[in-house]
Amino acid sequence: MAAHAKLSPSSVKRWGDKDGCRASIQQSEGKPNRSSIASWNGSAEHMVAADCLTNGFDPQVFLGRAIVFYAEIETPTEEHEAYVEAINVLTVIVNHTVTLDQDAIDRINAYVSYVRDRVAVTGGTLFVEQKLPIDHITGEPDATGTGDTCIFASEEGEIIDYKSGSGRVNAYTVIAQAIIDMFTGEITTPAVVTPNGQLAMYAHGMLRKYDLMGDIKRVRLVIVQPRINHVSEFVMSVADLNSYIDGIAAAALETQMPGAAFNPTSDNCFFCPGRIDCAPRQQLVLSKAIAAFPDLDDAQPRPVTDGELGALFGLLPLIRKWGDDVEQRVLMALDNGQTVLTADGTRLKLVTGRKGNKAWADEVALTALIEEMRLRNVMYVDKLITPTQAEKLTGERKRRNSTEPAAAPAAIGPVKWTRLAALITQPEGKAEIALETDPRPARHSIDAASEPVTDLFT
Ligand code: SF4
Repeated sequence: MAAHAKLSPSSVKRWGDKDGCRASIQQSEGKPNRSSIASWNGSAEHMVAADCLTNGFDPQVFLGRAIVFYAEIETPTEEHEAYVEAINVLTVIVNHTVTLDQDAIDRINAYVSYVRDRVAVTGGTLFVEQKLPIDHITGEPDATGTGDTCIFASEEGEIIDYKSGSGRVNAYTVIAQAIIDMFTGEITTPAVVTPNGQLAMYAHGMLRKYDLMGDIKRVRLVIVQPRINHVSEFVMSVADLNSYIDGIAAAALETQMPGAAFNPTSDNCFFCPGRIDCAPRQQLVLSKAIAAFPDLDDAQPRPVTDGELGALFGLLPLIRKWGDDVEQRVLMALDNGQTVLTADGTRLKLVTGRKGNKAWADEVALTALIEEMRLRNVMYVDKLITPTQAEKLTGERKRRNSTEPAAAPAAIGPVKWTRLAALITQPEGKAEIALETDPRPARHSIDAASEPVTDLFT
């Protein structure tokens, strides 16, 4: 397995953005980027989606399939993935196993259907799960990134990226919103928009790999995020892509310079593998956290200067994450038997916390026991399904195994669903704080002339 690129497209926002942290590449050197449950789930879904698109499978037939993430005993740090039946789990180190449930299958199906629709609509040529060269951008020899889907049609090259998570990702970033004449409705100043850096790198690698720089005039960058019913598109000319990539290449060069600049921010530091012992990040958190209080003894908040309240708010994710990391380091140190002292010299120790919730260990054995003891009537309760689960029953039912017919009619027909849907209630979304560039409308009109808040708690 090829080594993961250090200047990877998936982390380009951190190291290559205008406000990125150029030092993060050197700071992360030798520090593992650990897999998480979410990343394993996402990888499993990507693997099955690619299998479906390559071999024409229906995602539904993968319901209940297990995908194992494992390492060979001789190379324990290199992780691979495979369907469970394809490997001997007794001869490898199993890091994690993902079993695909119906929700995962629905997500895969949404993405696979989207890609198939695009191929049908454009009449384009499809390439799935392609290793795309990025070494010409990053300078890292033989570096590649993996493009989930490439489609070539006429003068357009398309990159479609599947995101399995719930954090909204767009194919573009709005740097400044368009200014619209309030009387005529005309756009007097167009919006300033940049492409998603990860997809832009894939697109450039795609054009290079297929040697299509001359033939393709524009690229379409698409993110499909079925978990939140979100699709985001951005189309740009190849000339604009080239000039955007020049900026990324320049940033890549800066990351290799001695004394590359640190820029601790919430976005940059959140997933940075080097954050645990990053001094500039720690200095920023401590200086900001302490600076918010004039007197640490009575911890009274002090007034803030113009603009400072918003700046402090922007740092909250950074401060919270730093707190989590400090706690994690203490846990690991104590677990390893190391001594950790508080400021007054008291030793910290590990204790056993509250027990978790009780759960049945073996539902198969339990069911048999319940039947044997004739306790079915008292051990089960009828439980109403949620509106979301009910809504899923309004669609054509997919085949769950090879013995079922190809499709069955919906369990809830449109007439019944109309009556049921009338009884659904959904609270309005709570107020959230967002940048003025966020596409959602503001709850209150933003008045540029109003006085900024100058005290944290009034
Ligand atoms: S933790 Fe933050 S400041 Fe430190 S290297 Fe990483 S991104 Fe940069």
